[in-house]
Amino acid sequence: MGSSSKDFTVTIIGGGIGGLVLAAGLLRRNVPVQIYEAAAEFAEIGLGLSIGPAAHRAMPLIDPQIREIYDSLVTTHADSPGYERYRQTWFEIIWASGDKEGNLLMDLKALPSGQTTLRRANFLDALVSLIPPEIVQFGKRLESLVEKSDGVHLQFEDGTRATADLVVGCDGIKSKVKEFMLPEESQHAQPRYSGMYGYRAVLDMADMVEAVGDQRARVSSIYIGDGAYGISYPIMRAQKVNVGFYVLNDRWDCDTWVRPAKREDMQRDANKMGRYVKSLVEYMPDPSQWAIFEHPHISTFCRSRVAILGDAAHASTPHQGAGAGQAIEDAHVLAELLGDNRVQSEEQAVAAFRAYDEIRRPRSQRVVTSSKENAYLLSLCLNGVGNDEDKLKTAFQERLRWLWDLDVQGQVEQARERMVDLFHSKF
Ligand SMILES: Cc1cc2nc3c(=O)[nH]c(=O)nc-3n(C[C@H](O)[C@H](O)[C@H](O)COP(=O)(O)OP(=O)(O)OC[C@H]3O[C@@H](n4cnc5c(N)ncnc54)[C@H](O)[C@@H]3O)c2cc1C
Repeated sequence: MGSSSKDFTVTIIGGGIGGLVLAAGLLRRNVPVQIYEAAAEFAEIGLGLSIGPAAHRAMPLIDPQIREIYDSLVTTHADSPGYERYRQTWFEIIWASGDKEGNLLMDLKALPSGQTTLRRANFLDALVSLIPPEIVQFGKRLESLVEKSDGVHLQFEDGTRATADLVVGCDGIKSKVKEFMLPEESQHAQPRYSGMYGYRAVLDMADMVEAVGDQRARVSSIYIGDGAYGISYPIMRAQKVNVGFYVLNDRWDCDTWVRPAKREDMQRDANKMGRYVKSLVEYMPDPSQWAIFEHPHISTFCRSRVAILGDAAHASTPHQGAGAGQAIEDAHVLAELLGDNRVQSEEQAVAAFRAYDEIRRPRSQRVVTSSKENAYLLSLCLNGVGNDEDKLKTAFQERLRWLWDLDVQGQVEQARERMVDLFHSKF
């Protein structure tokens, strides 16, 4: 890293995918960074992650090493010998109910990359290698934040304090930064139950083949059914398969987001789901139910010297596989703005935050909405689509085209123009 021309350090709260990718992008642009992470070390549960084409295109623009890391870790359909012809397939969509049960609805492509999946923990471990250890403090769970004339005062749960020039909250769906940045919206801005819970597992490929056969095990599959859907995709060079089964259910009467359940609950939920999902649930070792929460829309992603990014700003349901991708798109825009040579003072950085908010909020909030609609689409009950074959095919394609066909660099240039306008206006 060369010497910085900036009069500020960016303090990042939270070292998940959003925080680490932003930090890497800022460091690459010689912007000084400090990270406070709640956990004692960077750690993640090992479930799978699929990142779509727009975020994939943004990666090398943030830092070419991020794309290299990602590409070196991903599993594609070509990792299963004999399945190379599915190289550009994202998912095969399979009917899980009705008289077409078990049949293919469509081969949904993701051009040009096809399905690329990885184990989230592997990606995070590799991202950590881009961050100098001396800029990270672990075991620092933010408790409160207040902006004063001399900076943003941070109070951590361990009793320590710090003062920051600028803060970016990357602290996930239960963000403390958001809570203190937007106190007047904090009641309304709490994460809310989205009306769906799920069962999740990582299975060995051998078990998966036993459960659903070779093709269904090796090709990423979504099973669309009445009021529920199943999903599976290979990870770890097709040695393992990430499996999920999600069920529409209006109520979540539990204080925690994960509750113990019995195998019979899972079997009951899979009752109408056809042979593949019924078989899969027999192989899933843990019947715990995971409530799916999402973020209500909030009025801004920044206030003065504080901004929020990723799930802290716009956590979405997982039904479109887009949450981490949105955090990466956010990090791309923010790193480019804060790294811009014209941004030197804190005041200019505040204009960068404003431009970031104006450009990123509409798109990322639309993803939250469309991801929730996707739950209904996959559960064959989206208004105007239902279980109509042609409408389903069109809806899948149109929704993903909107999500993936983004001009990622164009988005940055739009934000840059807006930032320069803001330099010249009083805000
Ligand atoms: C079941 C499921 C499946 C998903 N599948 C996909 C998928 O296939 N593709 C995809 O793109 N997305 C997917 N997502 C969404 C994706 O996981 C998230 O959008 C992404 O992880 C958000 O990253 P983040 O860095 O914003 O937040 P997080 O990953 O939540 O990271 C937040 C970090 O902040 C730290 N932290 C929290 N509170 C504090 C505090 N007070 N002080 C300091 N540090 C703190 C945490 O320890 C953590 O390290 C899925 C989500 C779920 C639930």
